[in-house]
Amino acid sequence: MSADKKSCKLVVISGPSGSGKTSICKELTKCPKVKQSISYTTRKPRDGEKEGVDYCFVERSEFEKLVKEDKFIEYAEYCGHLYGTPIGPVREVVDDNKIFLLAIDVKGAMQVMKKMPDAVYIFIKAPDDETLKQRLKNRLTEDDEIINKRFMVAREEMEASKHYDYCVINDRLDDAVKEIEGILQI
Ligand code: 5GP
Repeated sequence: MSADKKSCKLVVISGPSGSGKTSICKELTKCPKVKQSISYTTRKPRDGEKEGVDYCFVERSEFEKLVKEDKFIEYAEYCGHLYGTPIGPVREVVDDNKIFLLAIDVKGAMQVMKKMPDAVYIFIKAPDDETLKQRLKNRLTEDDEIINKRFMVAREEMEASKHYDYCVINDRLDDAVKEIEGILQI
């Protein structure tokens, strides 16, 4: 299937923590046509992360209030923290000629698949388990327990890759970005 057979405006990118999703999205958003959703999370900011740029960081009570108010198109709990995509910007993209990226976990992507089957679904994989673990360690922002937890979740997430339209192996960042640009024809 090629991306032009689907509505290419909404693009959902998932993949295990350490697969390189964030770096890929950073490269893709260098194109002015490509915008990225800013998620809400109850996780604390990592060093260098900025409020309203990387995430909207909120307390759990505030997040739960937004859930009750139906403000998310999807949300999920990941390693003990809540993450959600605000629905407003997703609605706007339907009227806009932009490509809108959601970089979200597998549980969230499954919710979006039910609501927006016409979006393009891309799963990013690391070339192998060793590389994935090494990338998680290289971040140095999380302790061993969190790294191991994320690694275990990663293995479960890989199972879900069969539900995606495309699987891209991120061995070299440039190549993975080019492959996705090809899929999205940008
Ligand atoms: P991190 O804590 O490393 O920033 O993100 C952890 C996981 O949550 C990643 O797989 C990331 O893609 C996912 N994530 C980020 N934002 C959202 C969101 O809005 N919804 C869902 N379901 N997952 C998200």
